[in-house]
Amino acid sequence: MTHDHHHHDHDHPHGSDLTPVEARVRALESLLVEKGYVQPAALDALVEMYETKVGPHLGARVVARAWTDPAYRDRLLEDATPTIAELGIGGRGGEHMVVVENTPEVHNMVVCTLCSCYPWPVLGLPPVWYKAPAYRARAVIDPRGVLTDFGVGLPETTRITVWDSTAETRFMVLPMRPAGTEGFSEEALAALVTRDAMIGTGLPLSPGAEIQP
Ligand code: FE
Repeated sequence: MTHDHHHHDHDHPHGSDLTPVEARVRALESLLVEKGYVQPAALDALVEMYETKVGPHLGARVVARAWTDPAYRDRLLEDATPTIAELGIGGRGGEHMVVVENTPEVHNMVVCTLCSCYPWPVLGLPPVWYKAPAYRARAVIDPRGVLTDFGVGLPETTRITVWDSTAETRFMVLPMRPAGTEGFSEEALAALVTRDAMIGTGLPLSPGAEIQP
């Protein structure tokens, strides 16, 4: 399994070499516009928002704040939605957020076994593998095997808890703060927080391996 299937192909204006899914999306969009159900400008704005503004960098800010502010962390675990909103983050799909904390004893992993429910306001659009039947089925049956596929090896003593998202409740993982980050600013810490770390299929980066903005 590879874990980065992010394709942005805007080079095919003629539609002749669209994938079947792209062709279906285009046909559906045309129909919705034609019937007057959606406005193309509104769709464009929505797509642009998720491509440029909403993404895992927002969840990373929440995690970094929780790592540096114990009172914030407590509020986050107690009642995530308003605590996330304190940072100006929220919206559709994030109305009922639950944050689960990783510890040396428990590692949390998020899935939607039914479809692809995902905490959009903090993580943006889900990766392709999150929506794939293989991940959705196997995350529950063999979470440790899934983690191995993602290159995550946990001690045998660490229990793995899998959280099944629903349309109502969306989960985000609060990963453990990496060692060697004492004195790091929130911004520096946020750069260590990957999307997968907040889904629970990955761990935060080590200092020196930051995500480039
Ligand atoms: Fe779902």
